[in-house]
Amino acid sequence: MSVVVPGSLNIDLVVNLDRMPNPGETVHGRTFLTFPGGKGLNQAVGAARSAASTSMIGALGNDPYSKTLRDVMAHESINDQYVREIDGACGTAIIEVDSSGQNRIVVIPGANAEMKANEVDIDAFGTNSVMLAQLESPIAELTMLFKGAKEAGFTTILNPAPAVQLPAEFLQVVDILIPNQFEAELLSGIEVDSKEAAVTGAKKLLAQGVKAVVVTLGELGAIYVSDSEEIFQEAFAVNPVDTTAAGDAFCGAFAAEIDRGHSIAESLRYACAAGGLATTKQGAVPSVPTELEIRSFLKNFA
Ligand code: ADP
Repeated sequence: MSVVVPGSLNIDLVVNLDRMPNPGETVHGRTFLTFPGGKGLNQAVGAARSAASTSMIGALGNDPYSKTLRDVMAHESINDQYVREIDGACGTAIIEVDSSGQNRIVVIPGANAEMKANEVDIDAFGTNSVMLAQLESPIAELTMLFKGAKEAGFTTILNPAPAVQLPAEFLQVVDILIPNQFEAELLSGIEVDSKEAAVTGAKKLLAQGVKAVVVTLGELGAIYVSDSEEIFQEAFAVNPVDTTAAGDAFCGAFAAEIDRGHSIAESLRYACAAGGLATTKQGAVPSVPTELEIRSFLKNFA
């Protein structure tokens, strides 16, 4: 039993400034902060804080930021045996936020583009494990890992973010696809603005070969759709301050619950609580809740 996350690790370099510079212009920024990030690392932290035995598959460089990201994994008890080291820099996101809250983001994949599936012994993780991926890593490598995971008896979960059209051979080895409403729209061609529309969109995605779909619907909650079942979970009332990484917290928590053998309904409820709690704190990794926080929050809704 474990949660294996092939995915991205980024360092987020965040500049707050009064206004964006024009081309060729220099302006003064107000603050500069660095944060660990990347959807892969965020979701691995989500699974690990939900007490799953968690491993990452990915790549870092040999620069100081890569060392920082390795230290984050060590601190969160994430196994980094399959996070290879390349000669170069780790993935980097340069984020500028102006005083009106508008942002501009440049993402440099860096080492993330060098993840290699053939270096991984999937059987070593044991059957009944869960593989959880996103789309910030090379799709050919992810496809190979998902095929290996299916052969090894894993449950495979894909968060198709950022959304791109996916090859049929990949979708066929996905047990549970978890898009948010925008990703569901892009992948299904259906406008997803309600629970009912999410079901229609999810059915289109089932027809593309995935076995089940969970559409996350922000403050509405989330809905699971398979050929035989629909399970809706309402969101929990919270006071959101920053919705960054709500989806990542949801995915990591959901994978941990499935790995523990909990039902889809139980896992949806737990993951919706995790997503909701993540909106109550600033940032990505800092906002991802622990199992203790999630279970005590859920006691308020027993
Ligand atoms: P993403 O961050 O990928 O856009 P969502 O916004 O759909 O994903 O959020 C994921 C989950 O987090 C939702 O399914 C919901 O359970 C929870 N969530 C997100 N926003 C809120 C909110 N404003 N209130 C309560 N729960 C929320």
